[in-house]
Amino acid sequence: MPAMADTHLMTIPGQVNPVPVARDITPRADGRVDLLGLPKKRITELFADAGLDAKQAKLRAKQVFHWLYHRGETEFSAMTDIGKTMRPWLEERFVVGRPDVVEAQHSSDGTRKWLLRTPDGHDYEMVFIPDADRGTLCISSQVGCTLNCTFCHTGTMRLVRNLTPGEIVGQVMLARDALGEWPKGRMDIAEEEDEAEYRADGRLLTNIVLMGMGEPLYNFDNVRDAMKLVMDGEGLGLSRRRITLSTSGVVPAMARCGDEIGVNLAVSLHAVRKEVRDEIVPLNRKYGIEELLAACAAYPRASNSRRITFEYVMLRDKNDSDDDARELVRLLKKYDLPAKVNLIPFNPWAGAPYECSAPDRIRSFSNIIFEAGISAPVRTPRGRDIDAACGQLKTAAEKKSRAQLRREAEEEAASAPAG
Ligand code: SAH
Ligand code: SF4
Repeated sequence: MPAMADTHLMTIPGQVNPVPVARDITPRADGRVDLLGLPKKRITELFADAGLDAKQAKLRAKQVFHWLYHRGETEFSAMTDIGKTMRPWLEERFVVGRPDVVEAQHSSDGTRKWLLRTPDGHDYEMVFIPDADRGTLCISSQVGCTLNCTFCHTGTMRLVRNLTPGEIVGQVMLARDALGEWPKGRMDIAEEEDEAEYRADGRLLTNIVLMGMGEPLYNFDNVRDAMKLVMDGEGLGLSRRRITLSTSGVVPAMARCGDEIGVNLAVSLHAVRKEVRDEIVPLNRKYGIEELLAACAAYPRASNSRRITFEYVMLRDKNDSDDDARELVRLLKKYDLPAKVNLIPFNPWAGAPYECSAPDRIRSFSNIIFEAGISAPVRTPRGRDIDAACGQLKTAAEKKSRAQLRREAEEEAASAPAG
């Protein structure tokens, strides 16, 4: 396959059992190492490998870690508690990167979308959704997705690669850059002039959802490592209660998710009958509805205070009857799940094989669930005008590159010598 040297493609859509691809630190042309996404232990090792003695390496790693993840600093020269001679030494060997921004868009409803690019040229997206009482950042875990749910645009992307921890945590850091939300001072060292500047409150970015491109549980290790940096009190310091991971139902990874990441769980259920779920969420052929719900019931943190969110996309005449709603209630009760149902009006995309259910159908569906004592809000689609709504993410670059190819073909044809 003619792929770039450090490009690792996962199995092409159609497979429900992709092979996770381990990826090293992405090599840079200038030979320096990008620290973004690395944990303190790894940074310590790298500093020791570069020549610092064990004690120095540990101290410097602690300082750099703080600047990197807590303060959002990208320049070693600005890391003021690190010795003046040490700073150029670091600069020669290391960098603190950010994902490359290809395009940033603003929706009329305040939603923002960023098209990002990996160093090996793959595009992915993140979306920021501001609300009155919260600001939610929707981040991607993969470029594309191997799972091909039939209503999801991301599932139609041809190329799939796991994002690295740096590319995942980098989204959150980039959002903080864009929103100007890094704490100004140090929390752990009481320096008076610094203390006054520190402000952890008034944040715009309060919540993170792993609901962008990709299936997070098919990129388990990288997602876990990135979320550890996000949740680390010395790092980005966001509470696990404010993070939600959405899965289409990778049953074998769910218990690990509870144990090793411990964030809130959202499950893309979308159908309550085997034939229908087999069609719209093909992973169902591998892990069926009952098996999935049993895994939800066993999810380590499932309790009334930490309910599992069940996402249900409303598809006209497919999964939206009153009987479907009653069956959903029956299943949730059968497994005694502390549940909340999120009804998502289907967001159309060009060529999609479905239509959204009518508003009164959605209302009726919601009422049946609600009357059974389960909350079932209907999600308002956000950022539709910039293709930022659920399931619409499919990089503009992919679309552009096809247009580009066509243009190139036309130019070539036009410039071909006559005869
Ligand atoms: N792969 C994960 C997370 C990303 S998808 C998962 O499937 O859970 C985030 C949510 O958007 C999922 O519930 C997904 O089913 C839903 N979704 C996908 N395409 C959609 C569309 N066209 N309209 C509405 N919701 C969609
Ligand atoms: Fe992948 Fe989720 Fe889209 Fe299904 S809904 S194709 S699992 S991103």
